[in-house]
Amino acid sequence: MDTGLYIALLNPTIALALGAAFLVLWTYQRHRPYLAVLGFSYSVSALGFLLQYFTLPIGMSLTKLVSNICFTFAGCCLSGAIVARYGRKVPYVGIGVLAGGGLASFCWFLFVAPDLTWRVLAMNFGFGGISLLVAAELRPVRNNGPTEKILFVLSLLSGLNFFVRTLIVVIAHGPFTSYDGFYGSSYWTTALLSHALLSLLIALCLFTAAALDVMKALKAETYTDPLSGLLNRRGFEERAEFLLQRCAAAKFPVALVLADLDHFKALNDVHGHAAGDRVIADFAAKLRTAAGARGAAGRIGGEEFAVVLPLTDLAAARLFAEAVRTLYSAGGVDGLPPGTKVTASFGVAARSGEEALQPLMRRADEALYKAKKNGRDSVRLSYERPETLFVPEPSWAG
Ligand code: GH3
Ligand code: MG
Ligand code: MG
Repeated sequence: MDTGLYIALLNPTIALALGAAFLVLWTYQRHRPYLAVLGFSYSVSALGFLLQYFTLPIGMSLTKLVSNICFTFAGCCLSGAIVARYGRKVPYVGIGVLAGGGLASFCWFLFVAPDLTWRVLAMNFGFGGISLLVAAELRPVRNNGPTEKILFVLSLLSGLNFFVRTLIVVIAHGPFTSYDGFYGSSYWTTALLSHALLSLLIALCLFTAAALDVMKALKAETYTDPLSGLLNRRGFEERAEFLLQRCAAAKFPVALVLADLDHFKALNDVHGHAAGDRVIADFAAKLRTAAGARGAAGRIGGEEFAVVLPLTDLAAARLFAEAVRTLYSAGGVDGLPPGTKVTASFGVAARSGEEALQPLMRRADEALYKAKKNGRDSVRLSYERPETLFVPEPSWAG
């Protein structure tokens, strides 16, 4: 086997392997259609490369046209999938104009004014334009993560490759008069090698992005409580530590509210476990709405909840807890007999200085214990280290 054939088979082999890999990945990730588009794109480009060497019974010119249609289709799919993966709107019109323009010029220089050099330039400039369009789409998101940055650079490099390399090699080589010697030319060899390298790098980057997507989804699942949809204890602690750090750096106050449903065991006994589950989900939904986007709410035990509230001092956190308590004890829960009253008790602590999460939670828990001892359906505060706070002791404090 000669070296030329090895190089010739390089691209279709790589493209087929990558196409298959993306399609397999997609069968496990059906909700990510961009993976199927990538698989399709790489497979079609393999066909395009093979048709450069094997002429179909339709004749040489039409086979070249089919091959270039494959390349164009693959290029459009690849660019569309990349742009869609990064949450950007796919510029169908721009891609269509560049791909259609390249292909129309190719046809012109194939059938109307046959010229191989201009065909080469037409296709390469079309692909170069599409690569730069992808780079322009990735520009606003290029600092969001490593794969965004790498793909942005690869799109730029790909654009340069299609425009600059083609021009340099074609000018240095001189015009092509026929396909004689074309596949052994410096143009074709550099085109094959640069395409193999770039498509491998782009695919590696997209595989990494897909792996990161899966890891992110798994992490979200590990940190979420399925019944309430809130963070579970592990997720809450991680998020709370993060918010505490952010608030410490900005010297913002931060407070913690613990809540525990009252007489929940009795509620389970009387109305059944399923009704108890509904009560938990209902309380969690109210707590999440109250905490909003700024705070973080978690279900840290069976019927125990925690909310960390950045930019909130003890007085504001007390108002928050009081609001949730009154709202909750005043309303009914769907699925429970009308008039069934469910209440919750709350313990509130504001962070003092650089206090860590665990001591803060301990103080809020002590305050919650006081609320329970004091008859439940109430809010109690932790007054440890009151020198940092200016909150007069309310007459109803326990
Ligand atoms: P208190 O007012 O002192 O908090 O009394 P309580 O009955 O709420 O407290 P206790 O800690 O004794 O009981 C908590 C109950 O919560 C016991 C357990 O059966 C129930 N529980 C824990 N997790 C779940 C759950 O996921 N679903 C349901 N339905 N019940 C749960
Ligand atoms: Mg309870
Ligand atoms: Mg409890």
